[in-house]
Amino acid sequence: MAPKVIPRDAHPVSRKLISENALKVLYRLQSHGHEAYLVGGGVRDILLGQQPKDFDIATSAKPEEVHALFKNSRLIGRRFKLVHILFGRDMIEVATFRGQANAESGKGSHHQSDEGMLLRDNVYGSVDEDAIRRDFTVNALYYNANDFCVYDFVDGLSDIADRKLRLIGDPETRYREDPVRMLRAVRFAAKLDFDIEERTRAPIFELADLLENIAPARLFDEVIKLFMSGHGVRIFESCRSFGIYASLFPEVDHTLNKSEHSACYLRFIHAALNNTDRRIAADKPVTPAFLYASMLWPEVHRRWQSNMAQGMNEFPAMQAAIQPTLSHQLRHISIPKRFSLQMKEIWEFQVRLTRTKGRRPHELVQHPRFRAAYDFLVLREQAGEPTNSLGAWWTSFQEKHPAPAKAPRNRSHDKPPARRRRRRPPQRPSNQ
Ligand code: ATP
Ligand code: MG
Repeated sequence: MAPKVIPRDAHPVSRKLISENALKVLYRLQSHGHEAYLVGGGVRDILLGQQPKDFDIATSAKPEEVHALFKNSRLIGRRFKLVHILFGRDMIEVATFRGQANAESGKGSHHQSDEGMLLRDNVYGSVDEDAIRRDFTVNALYYNANDFCVYDFVDGLSDIADRKLRLIGDPETRYREDPVRMLRAVRFAAKLDFDIEERTRAPIFELADLLENIAPARLFDEVIKLFMSGHGVRIFESCRSFGIYASLFPEVDHTLNKSEHSACYLRFIHAALNNTDRRIAADKPVTPAFLYASMLWPEVHRRWQSNMAQGMNEFPAMQAAIQPTLSHQLRHISIPKRFSLQMKEIWEFQVRLTRTKGRRPHELVQHPRFRAAYDFLVLREQAGEPTNSLGAWWTSFQEKHPAPAKAPRNRSHDKPPARRRRRRPPQRPSNQ
C-alpha cells in the first residue's frame, strides 16, 4: 500500500519538538540497518500543535534485536511484546511492526478467542501492515527522522484536519479484537476534543459489555487513564451514555440509575472528577485511591445507610458496607491492595470525622489519611449530602489549629500522577 508522503516543508513535525531520547533511539535503530519511525501520540499531538505526553517508536527490528541494541532496555508484555528503553525517568516505547493477523502465516504468534478478541498479537510485518493494525487513523502517522517526511497510510491527516476520530478497518471487528479500543475512543475524543466518526461510534453501545472480558488488572490501568486524563467529567458522561460505565462499575451504575439519592450521587462523582480535572490542570498530583474511593462512594453510602437502617451502629455499618462493595468491584477491576487499603481508610474516616469532641480532632488531623478524608467530606457536602456541616466544622478547626510549621507534610493526597502507557498491564502508578 503506497502511503501519502508529506515532505518536511509541508508539515510541522520538526526534530526540535521531539525528545532527544526518542531521536537517539530512532538514529541508533536506523544506523543498524532497521527502519524506525516516530508514531502514535508523539506525531499526532505535534500535528495538533500540542505537547506530546510521550514518544512511541515503531521499527522493523524484532523486540530481541532492539533489546540487544540498548543496554538500558527491557522486554515487556506477552500479549503484545514491546521494548521499553529507559533514560532516567523518561521512557521510550519501541514496538516492532505488526503484520496481518493471519493464523496461517506461521510468522510469530497470534491468537484469538472465540469472540474475536486478540489474546496475543505478536505477528511481525512491514510498516504498511503495521499502520492498519493501529487503532485510530490519527494514531497511525509515521515520521521518519531520516528524510523528515510524514507517511500517511490511512488518511490520518485529513481526519486530523477534520478533528475526527476514526477507527481503522471495520469498527466492530476492531472492537471485538480489543474492546479497550472503546475506552481509547472516548478518552481521545475528550482529550483531543474530536468527534467520534459515525461508523466508529455506532457499534460502541452494542459492544460495551465486551469490556467485561478484559483482564481486571488491565482495566485498573485503563480506568486510571480515563479518569486521570484531565477530562474526567466529560469522559464519565460519555462512558455513561455509551453503556461503558455499566461494564466497568456495574453496581455503581445500577445505583446511579435506581437510587432515590441518584441525583446527589451523580453530583458527588461530578464534584470529585471536577476536582481531579482541576488538580491535573494545576499540575497537582492525584491518587488512584481517591479516584476509586469517589467512584465507589454511591455503593458504599447506599449499603452504609441501609445497614444503619437495620439497626447497626455507624462504624460497623460502614465496615459492613465496604467489604461487599470492594469484593464485587474487584471482579471487574483489580484494585491493588495498597490502594484499596487507603480507600477503606478514606471511607472509615467519614465516620471518624464525626467525632469532634475533646482531644479527638487533634489526633485525627495528625493521621496520614486525614487530608484525603477531609477533601472527600467536603466533596460530599458540595454534592448536597446532609452532613450537618461537618466539613465546614473541620475547615474552621484547621484554621483555628494550624499544623505546626515543622510538622512532616501530610502526603496522603499527594501522589505522582499515574503514568499512562499502553497495551500491556501498564506500569502501576507509584504509591510512594
Ligand atoms: P497518549 O500516549 O498520548 O495517550 P498514544 O496514541 O500515543 O496516546 P499509546 O497508548 O501511547 O497512545 O499508544 C501508542 C500507539 O500505539 C497508538 O497511537 C496506537 O497507534 C497504538 N495502539 C495503542 N494501543 C492500541 C490498541 N489497543 N489497539 C491498536 N493500536 C494501539
Ligand atoms: Mg503514547
